[in-house]
Amino acid sequence: MANRYDPEAVEPKWREIWEQSGLYDFEPTSAKPKHYAVTMLPYPSGNLHIGHWYAMSPSDAHARFMRMRGYNVFFPMGFDAFGLPAENAAIKNKLDPRKWTYSNIAYMRNQLKSMGLMVDWKQEVITADPSFYRWNQWFFIQFFKRGVAYKKFSAVDWCPSCNTTLAREQVVGDERRCERCETLVTKRDLDQWYFKITDYADELLDFSGMDWPERIIAMQRNWIGRSEGAEVTFRSAQDDPITVFTTRPDTLWGASFMVLAPEHPLVATLTSPEQRAAVEAYVAEAVRKTEVERQSTDDEKPKTGVWIGAHAINPATGRPVPIWIADYVLMTYGTGAIMAVPGHDERDFAFATTFNLPITRVVAESVDGAAAPLEQAETAYAVAVNSGFIDGLPSAEAKERVIDWLEAEGIGKRTINYRLRDWLVSRQRYWGTPIPMVTCEQCGIVPLPYEQLPLLVPDDVDFKPTGESPLKLHPTWRFTTCPACGGPAERDTDTMDTFVDSAWYQCRYLTPQENNAPFDREIAQEWLPVDHYTGGREHAVMHLLYTRFWWKLMRDMGLVEADEPMRQLRNQGVILGEDGNKMSKSKGNVVDPDMLVAKYGADAVRTFLMFIGPWEQGGPWNSKGIEGPARFLDRVWRLAMDQPSSTAAPGDEVAVRRLTQRTIKKVGEDLARYSFNTAIAALMEYVNELMKA
Ligand SMILES: [Zn+2]
Ligand SMILES: [Zn+2]
Repeated sequence: MANRYDPEAVEPKWREIWEQSGLYDFEPTSAKPKHYAVTMLPYPSGNLHIGHWYAMSPSDAHARFMRMRGYNVFFPMGFDAFGLPAENAAIKNKLDPRKWTYSNIAYMRNQLKSMGLMVDWKQEVITADPSFYRWNQWFFIQFFKRGVAYKKFSAVDWCPSCNTTLAREQVVGDERRCERCETLVTKRDLDQWYFKITDYADELLDFSGMDWPERIIAMQRNWIGRSEGAEVTFRSAQDDPITVFTTRPDTLWGASFMVLAPEHPLVATLTSPEQRAAVEAYVAEAVRKTEVERQSTDDEKPKTGVWIGAHAINPATGRPVPIWIADYVLMTYGTGAIMAVPGHDERDFAFATTFNLPITRVVAESVDGAAAPLEQAETAYAVAVNSGFIDGLPSAEAKERVIDWLEAEGIGKRTINYRLRDWLVSRQRYWGTPIPMVTCEQCGIVPLPYEQLPLLVPDDVDFKPTGESPLKLHPTWRFTTCPACGGPAERDTDTMDTFVDSAWYQCRYLTPQENNAPFDREIAQEWLPVDHYTGGREHAVMHLLYTRFWWKLMRDMGLVEADEPMRQLRNQGVILGEDGNKMSKSKGNVVDPDMLVAKYGADAVRTFLMFIGPWEQGGPWNSKGIEGPARFLDRVWRLAMDQPSSTAAPGDEVAVRRLTQRTIKKVGEDLARYSFNTAIAALMEYVNELMKA
């Protein structure tokens, strides 16, 4: 036996044996309890970086741990293979997106194999395969028939010089200019497909029974943004109704001005002739900004706005209040208009201070504080003051009384509001799942019959930097016949958001060859939902929300039974460069895992990544740190391979047994809670003691 551990010989030998013997082959049925572990599938960028290793190899270690504990474990791997980088490579380097993607996959699959994962590659899923995306199309048609998929005009980024829509990535800088011609980007309304995720808003707020990080749950809760309150209708001097949503109807008496979104339909009719020029200039400026920019809570950002030269009547006080427009009010949230209560709302307070608008106290610690001056917005619940019939009532009770009064007077009603918007699915891209719908002059929008699926992404397209989808520029692809009447019809030339692919891929792993359904029902019943899911927390409100939504749709279609797709979720941290900065080529601090594997072996890299710190925290890389884990593996090897010296005294043997039991207990407990670094530390200590014995 070799005296020293030689990973270059040992690792490929065992990988070969695993594969030959089918050790990790997926076993759909077994007497053992099932354990389904999934790590987020990678995008085939062309190279596996240290972040992939940090996400995947500890996940694999945990899956192996469950296997050793007697579970029938399934830990699959696939590729999230549609997306913009392939298209950019096509435009820049004249590469075929399909060839670019699949050659990257071939390369990365070998890199993943070198990681020593317990993956059964026969179960691999590639989302750009027609055998996969035909089921995206099947789901789309099902959603359309159920009223979940619908088409609507909506605003998208538009370059007036290039005469085309722009992807978010193509809009650059704080001023939002076109990346190609540097023209200021505007908005344009386009016909787009949406999925009605808002129908599930309340259910998506129910996290009961889910072992997910509190941080992710909080982000989803905030993203969905449910708030209880009331709609209140103010009236303009010309009697136009202006409806606002407020979570604090008890502060209605303190509403001293109103603010409309610049896009609000009443702005044009209410604006006075004297103010028209200023208002129009402000509106033109505001529509160029993104929602994120407009809603920035950055205190440094000056409050901007314009009075439109009109007033509305506050229904509680009967007094006129000025109407302003400001870009922090969004047409897409609530009603696109707010009643401003500067005494008790921070943003309204800042706005009123900037523009010298009246600030009235309507909430105080007690009725005695009714006249106390306001140094800042007081947002906490307390007692109503200066508020007519609710004076002296605690805020919560006052809120209820005001809503009752609004409903009795017919000027408002109890309302629940959500921040969540429907999922915009259409992308003006080529390398994605084609939308399986046609438009017929006679029949309108018609889905393709299932037997016409998959609707393939055509190969013979030109890639030109026009910003238009190559599907639209293709001479023939879009023209077809209507499945309903046989007359001429046109295909939708958009493709689906790639978050569609990752919304249900974990179901496909179970039966990737299934031809008659997205997945085999019986096997799915046995294996779903996923028991352990791992990946980056940057997916908190996109992928991880969409996959829950998709799952609930599948449940309502009778395809799955549980209420949630993933029982337990854990997020790894980020491995930074040795200088403590995010790894990037420009900083020259990128760590290449392939070089490390060549030098130390995959197990040393895996061990080091798990030892470097708490997995959920991540931290800076340490190029010297890997020596320790490499030496540790060498000691384990020698301990197992060397002849025992058999000089140990009987007393030592008892001590070693005790230490062994203690170590088994600690390592088992640590691995169960993903505490890899402490488990490895315990093993190192144990090996040190054994070497002494
Ligand atoms: Zn342009
Ligand atoms: Zn037709």
